[in-house]
Amino acid sequence: MADTNLAGGCQCGDVRYALAGEPMFAAICHCTMYRKAHAAPAVAWAMYQQTQVVFPNKSPKQFESSKDAQRGFCARCGTQISFTASFLPGLIDISIGSLDEPGAITPSLHYRHSKHLSWAEFADDLPRHAELPPFGESEG
Ligand SMILES: [Zn+2]
Repeated sequence: MADTNLAGGCQCGDVRYALAGEPMFAAICHCTMYRKAHAAPAVAWAMYQQTQVVFPNKSPKQFESSKDAQRGFCARCGTQISFTASFLPGLIDISIGSLDEPGAITPSLHYRHSKHLSWAEFADDLPRHAELPPFGESEG
């Protein structure tokens, strides 16, 4: 699915991270929260165990985007880096766009596709789930 030992960071370089091993899962989300946070039509992310992710310098600043969720970003340049939530204990989503080699991780599906923008259709054959993928299918 992906190379191991990838790295990435924000635009200005203050926040860097290293990823150990493969992600558990990668997907493209079309929900309105991701769209607003990233100011992008849709957002690709990869899920890791928090123990797989190291921030050697500055950690992302956290914004509580909802009662249970935090979005991590660079306090200096604003790049969106991470997503963590109380309902995903021990897990962290990393924005694929912040990787040094974003092509190294391929999403396996789209979700919240009911919210997708009509002019932002991806030219792929990946499954498109109107809301969340069925449990179990998301692991791939
Ligand atoms: Zn930065």
